Amino acid sequence: MKIYNTLTRQKEELKPIHDKKVGLYCCGPTVYNYAHIGNLRSFLFEDFLRRTLEFNDYDVNQVMNITDVGHLTSDSDEGEDKMEKGAKREGKTVWEIAEHYTTAFFDDIDALNIKRATHYPKATDHIEEMIRLVQRIEANGYTYQAGGNVYFDTGKMEDYGKLTGGTVETRHSASPEHTRIDVDPNKKHPHDFVLWFTESKHGNQDMQWESPWGKGFPGWHLECSAMSMKYLGKQFDIHCGGIDHVPVHHTNEIAQTEAATGKKPWVKYWMHGEFLLVGSGGKMAKSGDNFVILQTLRDRGFDALDYRYFCMQAHYRKELKFSWEGLEAAKTARRRLHDRANVGTCHDTSGKDAINRVSGDYMQKFNTAINDDLNIPQSLSITWELVDDTSVPNEEKMATLSKFDEVLGLKLGEKEVHDTPKEIEELIEQRDTARLKKDWATSDTLRKEIEDAGWIVEDKNDGGTIVKPK
Ligand SMILES: [Zn+2]
Repeated sequence: MKIYNTLTRQKEELKPIHDKKVGLYCCGPTVYNYAHIGNLRSFLFEDFLRRTLEFNDYDVNQVMNITDVGHLTSDSDEGEDKMEKGAKREGKTVWEIAEHYTTAFFDDIDALNIKRATHYPKATDHIEEMIRLVQRIEANGYTYQAGGNVYFDTGKMEDYGKLTGGTVETRHSASPEHTRIDVDPNKKHPHDFVLWFTESKHGNQDMQWESPWGKGFPGWHLECSAMSMKYLGKQFDIHCGGIDHVPVHHTNEIAQTEAATGKKPWVKYWMHGEFLLVGSGGKMAKSGDNFVILQTLRDRGFDALDYRYFCMQAHYRKELKFSWEGLEAAKTARRRLHDRANVGTCHDTSGKDAINRVSGDYMQKFNTAINDDLNIPQSLSITWELVDDTSVPNEEKMATLSKFDEVLGLKLGEKEVHDTPKEIEELIEQRDTARLKKDWATSDTLRKEIEDAGWIVEDKNDGGTIVKPK
């Protein structure tokens, strides 16, 4: 299996530290608002990675943090605290905000059929680990205190900025973003970042903890280093996130962790998902007209899986432009694929036998695609090729599709795909029961009722009923 490593800027063969076990860390949501569909694209990319690893028989320990403290509106120690901002907006406490949006996050990923990670540690449950980490960094001589805060001294780290490929010096002169934000007079160096804030800087924070440096709260980057090491060990295999995390968040995570442990590299492979573009090409943001969430799509008649399919059409390292027309096309294609994978065929995927009947040729092509740095768009075209291939017997086709779906996650084997109204679902259930009892008269009456309501009825060989809108 080959993956693109941001650190080395090339595709590399995956060689985990511990044989068939993979430690995978993904930067999670800041729970002060709903995830926008750009965030969700990143989580989908990580889901394809997780599923592809498991398809290759790796035992994956996946950790995703829930950021419920310490994330300022700028990644570089500036601006308002995001949690406080959410609380102010909605007139709730920060704790209520965190709880509400954490639940919303899980609802979204379940709807998108994203597999749940092994661990979802919350930042507020790991303050002690973060304090211990700062103490280790301090003991190794990489910190200084100024204006009530504890800073990381990037000047002491020779390879600071290695993830972006630049040295500290070139990054200083080359990055307008960093020139702009260089306003904190306490920083020795523009790239230095805060490990621990005390109340002297943000006096009215709700969330504060005692620490050796005074009462306060952790810098945002700290939690990912502390929690990943707690659940995955001091060195692990893959760290993921959106591409916007490369210059600041991930760069700082690497600096502080390697300063604390002295072990290099902390993470073997860094993988980053590209932006979702909206409107006139701007990136999705948590404010303004560009703020589209999963519910926005639902309100327009789309299913979460339509968005999953939409994202599958572009490689994760390519920008993807969001449009309603594009989503409409994805919806049509996905539903057609689902119908083709279900209707009029013997849907038997009962364990071993089914696996033995898979099409070797197609399985090989599929494997090549997904193992080439997650080429999901290609795996999707191979899926369509298989569906359209009349030379493959139906049973073999179904068994193969069912295997593919372990990676695609489109629920191809499941009956429900159209958003059928509840009353139609009930009629279908009654009809399935009638057919089981061989009560053909009732079955026919119910068929007519469903058809009169505007649905096409098709019978599957296993006795189930499938409906499609007329
Ligand atoms: Zn992170």
